[in-house]
Amino acid sequence: MAYKTVNPFNNEEVKSFTSLTEQEVAAKIDQADAAYKKWRQTDFATRRAVMKKAASILRAKKAEFARLVTLEMGKLIAEAEGEVDLTADIFDYYADNAETFLAPEILKPKDGGTAFVEHDSVGIILCVEPWNFPYYQLVRVAATNLMAGNVVVVKHASIVPQCAEAFEKLLLEAGAPEGAYINLFVDSKHVGKIIEDRRIRGVAVTGSEKAGASVAGKAGECLKKSTMELGGSDAFIVLEDADLDKACQWGLWGRMNNTGQCCVAAKRFIVVESVADEFLKRLTACFSKLSMGDPMDRATTLGPLSSEAAAQEIAELTATAIKHGAKAVIGGKRPERPGAFMEATILTNITKDNPVFYREFFGPVAMFFRVPDEKAAIELANDSEFGLGGSVFSKDIERAKRVASQIDTGMVFINRPTWTAPDLPFGGVKHSGYGRELAKEGIMEFVNRKLVYIEK
Ligand code: NAP
Repeated sequence: MAYKTVNPFNNEEVKSFTSLTEQEVAAKIDQADAAYKKWRQTDFATRRAVMKKAASILRAKKAEFARLVTLEMGKLIAEAEGEVDLTADIFDYYADNAETFLAPEILKPKDGGTAFVEHDSVGIILCVEPWNFPYYQLVRVAATNLMAGNVVVVKHASIVPQCAEAFEKLLLEAGAPEGAYINLFVDSKHVGKIIEDRRIRGVAVTGSEKAGASVAGKAGECLKKSTMELGGSDAFIVLEDADLDKACQWGLWGRMNNTGQCCVAAKRFIVVESVADEFLKRLTACFSKLSMGDPMDRATTLGPLSSEAAAQEIAELTATAIKHGAKAVIGGKRPERPGAFMEATILTNITKDNPVFYREFFGPVAMFFRVPDEKAAIELANDSEFGLGGSVFSKDIERAKRVASQIDTGMVFINRPTWTAPDLPFGGVKHSGYGRELAKEGIMEFVNRKLVYIEK
């Protein structure tokens, strides 16, 4: 797709960008390779200084960075500011911890020799990233790899080109050498060719299953390590002993944060029968209070989706659900107003033969299921192709922990929806992908765990 800024609040095109030619991409990889040869030799203090500076620039220019996010993909302005803060925190986190994470591990071989595993850089990492958190997705791969001595070339989503450029500029301004972080405006169909370049040593994707399967296939063919952070359809389990006030507040946030466009959004509400009516009534009341409008306006609580195409897609998926027997207890269609909007919607009566049953609703549409008991809740939660996050609501923490252990996902949160922090490993299983970003795990993905052995 061509790189363009289109404001989803009114669907007006703001700016378009030219994609790189094949020769220009090759020159960028040459530049990354030259930068890598120097960057890999730098010490942690040098790398740390760049990360710290990037964090401080982000905080100083928060309004400017946030405005671009809201302009390009419609995130509510306060949420965009929150994303800028989180991005700065992740820079700081790796600045402060990378050296400890990457310290050599001393081994004690039985033969009496000495040995250690050191964590060396590997080279250029290609990153393919989505629009839903235009900076946070980038820092997850940039801070880790740059601190590990790698360099990155990044294909960002075509609808957030100004954010892509702003992030590249940020790192240059923070003191990263030219070529250590390169933004590539390339069409997704050219990604395979980049992976083939022998200097690309790893590939990180965050995006849909379709993009993940395509890129992972190519990386496999070229024998390159990849990490895949893909879609999700997180269960939000409410047991009969849950604090319903808390569960409703978190349910609203879990489904509506980022206008429902989070990989770890609460997409399937699974509620035990004895509290199902009450929970549904309260959640519906919460959804009905949302105020649709301009995401730049702080009074707005339901902004547009990221693009007209995204709004059409979720409206069509909702219509399919209804055609096959689902009931919209609130919402169900697009409002009559310009822009990429969709009503806040709750769908009930979704049977297993409904074609949407296994689909990911990437927008403000909740699927609501009632189940007889805890066992049925676990079974339904696990009846998904995805395995990203999920949550369990119960006042009995030991019980919630037992339930969490039986959920087949990479992350389960108790008494709040799955969320992210610099020091919590993020990632999934099944079709949600493999590998982890953030925390110590994230920085370990693209390093050479090299064994060094010394004869006694
Ligand atoms: P997407 O269409 O897969 O796009 C993501 C990125 O992949 C974009 O840069 C896109 O480029 C590129 N792309 C698409 N098809 C490709 C292909 N065949 N080869 C190479 N690159 C390709 O996903 P999206 O709709 O933007 O994002 C939403 C999805 O991401 C959801 O499923 C969501 O759950 C998932 N997600 C997962 C995580 C996680 O950490 N697990 C986090 C956020 C989002 P273009 O923009 O040029 O098409």
